[in-house]
Amino acid sequence: MRRQSVFALITAAAVTLLWAGVDASARPRRQPRRTGPPPVLQVPPETRLLVISPHPDDETLAAGGLMQRVHEGGGHVNVVYLTDGDGYPEGVRSEGHVESPAPSDYRGYGRQRRREARDALAALGLDRASHTFLSFPDGGLCKLTRTYWSERRTAFRSPYTRLDRPPKSEMIVPDTEYRGEDLTQEIARIIGDFRPTMILVPRKEDQHPDHCAAWFFLGDALTDVRRVHPDYTVDVLNYIVHFYAWPFEEDGPRLEPPGLRGGASGWLRFPLTPAEVRTKRAALKKYSTQMHVMDWFLAGFARTNEVFSRPAPVRVVLPSRRNLCCDQ
Ligand SMILES: [Zn+2]
Repeated sequence: MRRQSVFALITAAAVTLLWAGVDASARPRRQPRRTGPPPVLQVPPETRLLVISPHPDDETLAAGGLMQRVHEGGGHVNVVYLTDGDGYPEGVRSEGHVESPAPSDYRGYGRQRRREARDALAALGLDRASHTFLSFPDGGLCKLTRTYWSERRTAFRSPYTRLDRPPKSEMIVPDTEYRGEDLTQEIARIIGDFRPTMILVPRKEDQHPDHCAAWFFLGDALTDVRRVHPDYTVDVLNYIVHFYAWPFEEDGPRLEPPGLRGGASGWLRFPLTPAEVRTKRAALKKYSTQMHVMDWFLAGFARTNEVFSRPAPVRVVLPSRRNLCCDQ
């Protein structure tokens, strides 16, 4: 797969991408010293929100409330699951009651997590067309930033599912394999087709390698889109799921992950109504495979606020000189 093919597709789509309030060419500003609580994230009406979710459940953990608000405000939400979350031996053992899971067990676990994701989005009130599964390798995204980047070598093969490509039914770009270049192309295609005004993606400081890698792939995809549409701008927001003991601080003055600065914007809080918290909690319960092994972790995110941050202008070009994120 060559990048030009995606450029052509995006051009053919003749997308007109609108900017939602952040100037991508602006230099990062020094974070102002604040004494009060972090500012509140505002959601413009008719927002088109694209959520990059490394695994099924990240979208609801980080933004179950924000997705509800966008939907209720007349906007559109599209969740892109980079992996099926099938590379989780402890979860597969627990769910399948097998000591040494076979590739078929991992694949079955991935299918179950996809079903749970659909149910969770339905619980949030989102229609069933508002998601895409890319089915890239869980636990393998960091190696795709360099080692398994292009056709110069064989594609990455998941040590869990033993697959080296998504199922044909899940391919956005034909002939996609587990290569970084292919993942970038698929994300770029989705951006071109969906035309988001706001994108949510994990921060690169997230301590799960797949989450960190998601940031770099989104950045690389945006670089591709802007080669074709130089004026394209979008409000990129970061979320964080895995960072030391986060989010086990009680609700209160401390709303953001301790020890992590809020990036270019500073932290932005997003208070949820009691009804939104109840709905978010109900959506998280749809992830029964995860509730079985880490209900305490999921419950920690069903709190009265979500937090986000805006990064400095996104300038990422892959492949990198080393495997980014693998040592997170
Ligand atoms: Zn995750």
